[in-house]
Amino acid sequence: MELTHIEHLGIAVKSLEEAIPYYENILGLKCYAIEEVADQKVKTAFFKIGQTKIELLESTSPEGTIAQFIEKKGEGIHHIAFATSSVKDALADAESKGVRLIDKAPRKGAEGLSIAFLHPKSTMGVLTELCQKSE
Ligand code: ZN
Repeated sequence: MELTHIEHLGIAVKSLEEAIPYYENILGLKCYAIEEVADQKVKTAFFKIGQTKIELLESTSPEGTIAQFIEKKGEGIHHIAFATSSVKDALADAESKGVRLIDKAPRKGAEGLSIAFLHPKSTMGVLTELCQKSE
């Protein structure tokens, strides 16, 4: 597959309200968007550094995947997202090489991106997201 850059890092936090001041006041980044993605049970806050973003993820439900992640592993890096010109092609390529997919087809993520996840069992433990700007 052809990846162009790291689109964002997804970081699981217990509370956006508590995490945002660290990114703004200590790291000097600016939160430019807060968005709730209801079907993923998360509220996200975005920062930009170069062409890469930081995506903070707070669970909106105790059953959400972010809440479960924090319960198991604590707060921290949750996933890495690579930009590609075609999530569909990248998925087909990964699948043909035996990679386990979480999403068999692209779906809609935050910021209107088309996204899909590869399973961490096939990626040495790093939950991997592929994303593409929607046409
Ligand atoms: Zn993400």
